[in-house]
Amino acid sequence: MKYGIITDIHGNLEALESVLSALSEEGVDKYICCGDIVGYGADPGECIRLVRERTSQIVAGNHDHAAVELIDTKNFNPTAQDAVRWTQEQLTQEETEFLANLPMSLVTDGLFIVHATPFQPEKWEYIRTTYDAFRSFKAFAESLCFVGHSHTPVTFISNKSLRFSFDEETEIKEGHRYIMNVGSVGQPRDGNPLACFVIYDSEKNTLELKRVEYDIKKAQEKIIEAGLPEYCAKRLESGS
Ligand code: ZN
Repeated sequence: MKYGIITDIHGNLEALESVLSALSEEGVDKYICCGDIVGYGADPGECIRLVRERTSQIVAGNHDHAAVELIDTKNFNPTAQDAVRWTQEQLTQEETEFLANLPMSLVTDGLFIVHATPFQPEKWEYIRTTYDAFRSFKAFAESLCFVGHSHTPVTFISNKSLRFSFDEETEIKEGHRYIMNVGSVGQPRDGNPLACFVIYDSEKNTLELKRVEYDIKKAQEKIIEAGLPEYCAKRLESGS
């Protein structure tokens, strides 16, 4: 089975369309989304529609919850707060209910899916260090976990010791456990502006990080036209 894992789309329709067509070309059988469908970008509704069309395996992100007033945005920076307010105004009642009812985590085919951390996911912390990863590995039983949230792809590997890897391809070995941050479709922050996604092949036992070009200029223009913060547009071209 080939799984396509996406996360942190953030209302960027141009990036999402590019990623979904790349996933179709790859012959993906099953889609998984680690959250943050909305926030920052100009097409929250259309992104929700397209993600739902492909999958029901979707967990909540902090921006999804902020857009439906399930979390307080006082810890968000001013740019994110403005984007949340704008997004709230765009969503239909049905879209709001959909986002509000997303689970915090889920298990599908033995894969653990969460947006932020397997431990206390509602605190929206980041897995930035091997110690964060150590705490995370203790909080789920499966051998493979996919997360988003930091917009920076990285894989933590636990066997007798714990290490991290920035390799684009990882071979899954018996007795090892993995937490993979699948990067971001709509707002990469690892210095590479290309949209990011992961393919997990359960027959070949591989995790593969993929990048794809999209119409960044068009996404930027739509953000400016919508009256969203200019920084949301600017950062797309540098991937920061
Ligand atoms: Zn995000």
